[in-house]
Parts: sequence; C-alpha cells; structure tokens
Amino acid sequence: MHRRTVLKAGALLGLGILTNAVKIQPVQAKEPGKMFEITKTDAEWQALLTPAQYRVLRKDGTEPPFQNQYYASTAKGVYHCAGCDLPLFSSDAKYESGTGWPSFWQPISESAVGRKSDWSLLGKRTEVHCSRCGGHQGHVFPDGPKPTGLRYCINSAALHFKPA
Ligand SMILES: [Zn+2]
Repeated sequence: MHRRTVLKAGALLGLGILTNAVKIQPVQAKEPGKMFEITKTDAEWQALLTPAQYRVLRKDGTEPPFQNQYYASTAKGVYHCAGCDLPLFSSDAKYESGTGWPSFWQPISESAVGRKSDWSLLGKRTEVHCSRCGGHQGHVFPDGPKPTGLRYCINSAALHFKPA
C-alpha cells in the first residue's frame, strides 16, 4: 500500500515536471513576439518605425542619455508605445532622475508593461516592454522615489507623447 502511494506520487511528480516543461516552452521560443496581441514581421516593423525606434523597440537598443526627446520634458499628458500606441506612462508619474532618460515611478497600469530578466550587461537587470506588441521600452530599477521606490528608465524613442 505504502509502496503504491509512493509510486503514484512519483508519477504525479513526473507529470508535473512534464507540464511545467510544456508551459515554459513559449518563453524560450525564438520569436517571443508571437506571444503578443500585436505581431509583425521584422520587415513590417522596419517599414513602420524610424531607424531609432526600430533599434530600441525591436532590437533592445538603448539611446544615448541627454540626447533624446523626452528626458527633460515636464509637459502634462500620456506617453504611448511608439510601436503600437498603447498608453504606457503618465506624466503624473514622471520625475527628474538625473540619468538623462525619461524616468517614471510607475506605469500607467500594471498590465500595460511586461517585465523579464535581462542578463546582457554585468549582472541581472529587469527589462520592461510594451505588453501589447512586446516592444522594448527600457529597464526598471529599485532606486526610484516614493511611493513605489521604482525607477522605470525608458527610451524616448520607444515612446510617443500625447499632450493632455
Ligand atoms: Zn506596443
């Protein structure tokens, strides 16, 4: 009886591992863009975006600090994704971080942005992207102001500002 229970538990455990393996597969797929509501081919994105937008949004590029459109902007309004126009950040959560990139202490809603671990540069950072088209926005760091303590460090080229 005891042995049978153990075997059954083992079988369930094996099944659990198998289910997990199947579940995580899409994350490791070569084309993560397929998981998003808005998907386009690389050629379509290149035709739609400026070279600077394409480099940031589709190639995870980073624009130079202090040489981008919105870092010093204090205008009231909403920053939309430059790839698909989804509202991502409000000027109400924008602050002067001194980094030379537009910085926000929260996205316009929790569902607007997705996050993933990024090991590309000296240790772990958390990458931030548009939840609708997967376009790379920037990174989020734990050194922001209250109330969240977060700093969403975003590329101007990934944003399109609409005044209130
Ligand atoms: Zn988008």
